[in-house]
Amino acid sequence: MKATPRTTGRKLQRMRAELFARCPLCVECERLGRVTEATQRDHIKPLAEGGADDDSNVQALCDDCHEAKSRTESTRGRWRGRRRT
Ligand SMILES: [Zn+2]
Repeated sequence: MKATPRTTGRKLQRMRAELFARCPLCVECERLGRVTEATQRDHIKPLAEGGADDDSNVQALCDDCHEAKSRTESTRGRWRGRRRT
């Protein structure tokens, strides 16, 4: 699977601003009934797994939820490609 190139620079700044204008609160906290300001632009499906870098694949998260998600993804990454003998 090919990883999607990450958007950078001015275009990224604009995409971040648009996301937080649309979803100022962390969606994961909202699901749990908490109200937390979103600070992270998160890719629902990671770029490393071929996720798109556009509005259809991003969500607003707070630092804590973003970190928890990243940790899950890196664990999954370690397991990927490993074969049973
Ligand atoms: Zn959160």
